[in-house]
Amino acid sequence: TPDVDWERIRADFPILKLRIDGKPLIYLDNAASNQMPQSVIDRLTRYQTTQHANINRAVHYLSEVATLEFHDARCKLQQFINAREDREVIFTSGTTDSINLVMQGYGRKFIKANDEIILTTLEHHSNIVPWQMLANEKGAKIRVVPINDKGELEVDEYERLFNDRTKFVGLIHVSNALGTISPIKRMIDFAHRYDVPVLIDGAQAAAHMSIDVQALDCDFYAFSAHKLCGPTGVGMLYGKAALLESMQPYKGGGDMIASVTFEETTYSTIPHKFEAGTPPIAAAIGFGAALDYLTAIGLDNIAAYESTLLDYATECLTQIPGVKIIGTASEKTAVISFTIDGIHPHDIGTILNQDGIAVRTGHHCAQPVMQRFNVPATSRASFAFYNNKTEVDALVAGIKTVKKVFL
Ligand code: PMP
Repeated sequence: TPDVDWERIRADFPILKLRIDGKPLIYLDNAASNQMPQSVIDRLTRYQTTQHANINRAVHYLSEVATLEFHDARCKLQQFINAREDREVIFTSGTTDSINLVMQGYGRKFIKANDEIILTTLEHHSNIVPWQMLANEKGAKIRVVPINDKGELEVDEYERLFNDRTKFVGLIHVSNALGTISPIKRMIDFAHRYDVPVLIDGAQAAAHMSIDVQALDCDFYAFSAHKLCGPTGVGMLYGKAALLESMQPYKGGGDMIASVTFEETTYSTIPHKFEAGTPPIAAAIGFGAALDYLTAIGLDNIAAYESTLLDYATECLTQIPGVKIIGTASEKTAVISFTIDGIHPHDIGTILNQDGIAVRTGHHCAQPVMQRFNVPATSRASFAFYNNKTEVDALVAGIKTVKKVFL
């Protein structure tokens, strides 16, 4: 990516100048939450200092400004994922909330006893537990797509799972635990041959590749702002308009109604039907600013740069004796999950932290993935476009220190 000055971009992130115990912060936990550039922080400050009010209800100046800015953020999301209409974008509190909205709004209305829901071994708990709750309530069944030893979905097995009881598919776009990119286009097309709607959990995808929901033809797509250089507390659900209209609301309250009497309530149109109560206005506006920032760099540029980082890090870590990379899919984002023979991941994380290096250790809310690879936990370095090769070298040095301390 010769056209992009990545070191200048890195300088947009004030938190990366922090020192931890005198050592420069090396932030490699981007899959959990990535960081905000100054432009997003400034946008939040501008909203809080000059635009803050509740939306939709009042005729006064500030309320009108906040209402317009909130709507503008929705339109930015619409463009970011290339949705047909802005009303197909619903603000939620995050990916987890988006998936629960689909489970409650679609699942509880349309899924019945003996129906089958297809999920994959790679799913984050947030795309497992809601469907299990539904399956238990309705007497429905969950069928699981296996993965191979590289951590790739076995798509032939997926296709064999379909039958006339299959009523819903939930697919992770990119695995947070391994980085595997799922072949979702092919999987969505196959599900549609059976008229089965597909929900894509895009929490780990949207910051790393461009997303086009019309080209994918997915029925639902979900992600969170805090993994796209935005604030916590807000996320989005895309749904095809006709599907969203057919669904029941998930939360009742103000702002989601057309009229209320004690005898009957009629609901508002989408997206408002799914946005009861005061939404996360400030966070949504910050989300919009984060999308502007990412779009200006270009998601294709980001994908290309991160892929060079992944190749470099993979090469370096592969050369350290005792380090085993879990998840070696041919299509991967810049996530490296690893173990070191004889050392507990928690100890690895603790020692790396002493060198200012932030990685995640644990099961990454993906216990079925850990079970598949027969490990209780891994250490995970997950990269963003503001990381660089110097930081990969620091990780490698940190891992060597870990080995010295424990072996
Ligand atoms: N799905 C995946 C793949 C994730 O990585 C995460 C966040 N770790 C989630 C869902 C849940 O996102 P949130 O906590 O923002 O609701």
